[in-house]
Amino acid sequence: MIVENNRLITLLSEEQKADLISLEKQFAHHLEYTIGKNKYTLGNTDIYKALGHTVRDFLIDRLNVTNERYLNEDPKKIYYFSLEFLMGRTLMNALINLGLYDIIKQMIGSFGFDLESILEFEMDAGLGNGGLGRLAACFLDSMATLNIPGFGYGIRYDYGIFNQIIVNGSQLEMPDHWDADGVPYEVVRPDITFSVGFYGHTETHITGKGKLQYRWIPGETVLASAHDCPVPGFNTSTVNYLRLWTAKSSEEFNLDYFNHGDYMKAVQDKSISENISKVLYPNDTTEQGKMLRLKQQYFMVCASLQDIIAQYKQANVSLDRLSDKIAIQLNDTHPSIGISELMRILMDQEDWDWDDAWDLTTKIFSYTNHTVLPEALETWKVSLIETLLPRHMQIIYEINQRFLEDVRKSGKLNETEIEEVSIIEEGNEKRIRMANLAVVGANKVNGVAALHSDLIIKTIFKSFYKIFPDKFNNKTNGITPRRWLIQSNPSLTALIAKKIGPSFATDLEKLRDLENHIGDAEFRNDWAKVKQVNKENLAKLIKGDTGIVIDPDSMIDVQVKRFHEYKRQLLNILRVIALYRRIKENPNITITPRTVIFGGKAAPGYYMAKLIIKLINNVASIVNHDKDVADRLKVIFLPNYRVSLAEKIIPGTNLSEQISTAGTEASGTSNMKFMLNGALTIGTLDGANVEMLEEVGRENIYIFGLKTEEVFATKQSGYDPRDWIEKNEEMGRILRMIRENFFSQNELGIFMPIHDSLFYTDTYLLMADFKAYDEMQKKVAEDFRNAEEWTKKAILNVARAGKFSSDRTIREYAKDIWKVPLLSTVPPQTSYQLG
Ligand SMILES: *Cc1c(COP(=O)(O)O)cnc(C)c1O
Repeated sequence: MIVENNRLITLLSEEQKADLISLEKQFAHHLEYTIGKNKYTLGNTDIYKALGHTVRDFLIDRLNVTNERYLNEDPKKIYYFSLEFLMGRTLMNALINLGLYDIIKQMIGSFGFDLESILEFEMDAGLGNGGLGRLAACFLDSMATLNIPGFGYGIRYDYGIFNQIIVNGSQLEMPDHWDADGVPYEVVRPDITFSVGFYGHTETHITGKGKLQYRWIPGETVLASAHDCPVPGFNTSTVNYLRLWTAKSSEEFNLDYFNHGDYMKAVQDKSISENISKVLYPNDTTEQGKMLRLKQQYFMVCASLQDIIAQYKQANVSLDRLSDKIAIQLNDTHPSIGISELMRILMDQEDWDWDDAWDLTTKIFSYTNHTVLPEALETWKVSLIETLLPRHMQIIYEINQRFLEDVRKSGKLNETEIEEVSIIEEGNEKRIRMANLAVVGANKVNGVAALHSDLIIKTIFKSFYKIFPDKFNNKTNGITPRRWLIQSNPSLTALIAKKIGPSFATDLEKLRDLENHIGDAEFRNDWAKVKQVNKENLAKLIKGDTGIVIDPDSMIDVQVKRFHEYKRQLLNILRVIALYRRIKENPNITITPRTVIFGGKAAPGYYMAKLIIKLINNVASIVNHDKDVADRLKVIFLPNYRVSLAEKIIPGTNLSEQISTAGTEASGTSNMKFMLNGALTIGTLDGANVEMLEEVGRENIYIFGLKTEEVFATKQSGYDPRDWIEKNEEMGRILRMIRENFFSQNELGIFMPIHDSLFYTDTYLLMADFKAYDEMQKKVAEDFRNAEEWTKKAILNVARAGKFSSDRTIREYAKDIWKVPLLSTVPPQTSYQLG
């Protein structure tokens, strides 16, 4: 790898270059025959699509080679089950990972186009809500890069996370028809189709061996058909895949109606079954208990398990060794119905006894918990599961009965604790606790940051921890440096590579070598220049997206993430209001100029989160138009935050806001993205911020506020926000401004719910943390004025970001949970077959 044109590129061998002579022909072929255009009719999207098909050819070459290797070597395979994959764009990532970036750039250039502009035509695959789905995407990149046979399984939603537009300051949701123009890189596999049953009833019969066996007779059948997104590793020939299922109506089901002459009903039903993969549920960290959502979960799991077992059976006769050959990771409880599905397959279809089936099942599944917030813990009404999946309900009852029996026998828990670990929640309406099912059925259970993993065994899984202490472990999240540094920040990547060489791309701990150069004034100067150019690019983007001109010399202060009360965007905007007031009261005040940027979507039904977005926009329109402010403060809300936008915002950021109430954010991953791009962090001791502090030390991160234990203690002792408001005169005035419609002069009273929630309940302790936050922000402002010292800290943060590579995370999963070896020799780069 070398640095060229301010970008880190992989050098191609002479042999590979020779193969690439046909690249232009290949591209021209796709333009003419795949897209069907000629030079008179083509537009920029056609260039993008033809390029997509050209890259796809390379991906498929290596995908096939990789599959062949897996067939020959029959290694243990990892299946990452997730209802969400927030992949963002694919093509640039593929070019970088395949080492094709420079040669494709030249090729596209020779046709008279600019590669980076062409790649802007790609729509994000936004098949996820936020951090949980993005984690899945980063893990796929790391598994392929580490040559682990690891595959994603999920749903190919027709509509991803909604597009957010802001109208009169409020969020409006627009459908995200991301595949409307086709998805050039995906591989459609109609030959890989399985049927998925729903509803119906169960029967018993006696097998030939005289054994009682259950059989589920579904009342409805839907087909699941595979679409594969190739997942190329970086600088290796491994290409794995993400297999996404799409729902198709099954003919068996509709034939009945056709035969009875009801053509319209048959067609109607066809579209009803296809609804299953129609749209991603847009709730981040809350569950609604809707039938269609449960259908999605079972649809994904059922098709995936059939596929996995069919693949296994290509090489093996009996399922005895299944747990030596596969492991399944459950990304949260969403796919945890899979535990009962595997039990059903083994007992009802493969004729296994309960004990053997349970033994095998509990070796295969592991479960990753993502939250301690009670509203995010998934439960389903027993009546719903009984209707949709009657056989699974029987199996879950039996799992629970046998489990509780064992627990009672062990004498480790008292009756209250036994009630707590039960998979069934008793009450007026019985419910299934999916987290309990997942813990009971899993081989390992992990949290996603040290603090979070500690917290779950002290809170939600306290009693489980007494029974299964060895199940629980931590796997601190990570991010892939390919997308979040090499792709998103090419000029910083080039600067780093020039200084310490390119090996950090696959060994992020190598960034530590940067520490040797912090004292080098010329290097710091180059570093600051890179940041400045990134800030200027961000300023252009902001001008384009919002029409607002910002000062690229100001401190770029960013909070981008889903809108949720626990993440406390409200704390940030309250402090902006405080700053604004201070300027108004003392117009000559010297403050460090700041641009405070917000971005993020709120769940469509989350009233408070949407109101906070509105407040931010209203504050912005007053602050940004006030002549007294004189450009010392700007507030920006960037609409439609998504992966491709994150890639542009993060490199231009000076200050990263990670200010959730301690004990609420499981890990966070945007905190890591910012750190890796040379932003400093202001944050609470929450999630992975704790570990970031451990890496960089107190002087290099701005930590404030109550710690987790203090949050618990404060709440325990009867927290009353008014006690804190009384102590802080300025906060009293800010609340009065909100109450007296300073930010809602044409919409009287709209912000009263925000006012009242702060005044009377303040669940997330904003009033208790405000002063500490404000004081730390003052220190940040002061430090930013010393550009040299700021740059030193920024370099140090990047140098110590190595731990937060998802390569490290995946190595830990491989060793501790999946028990798969890491290849010591990398499969050779196969030469390109084209031409
Ligand atoms: C990384 C990422 C997230 C997660 O952000 P957090 O601040 O960790 O919640 C959400 N959305 C997008 C688009 C991301 O890239």
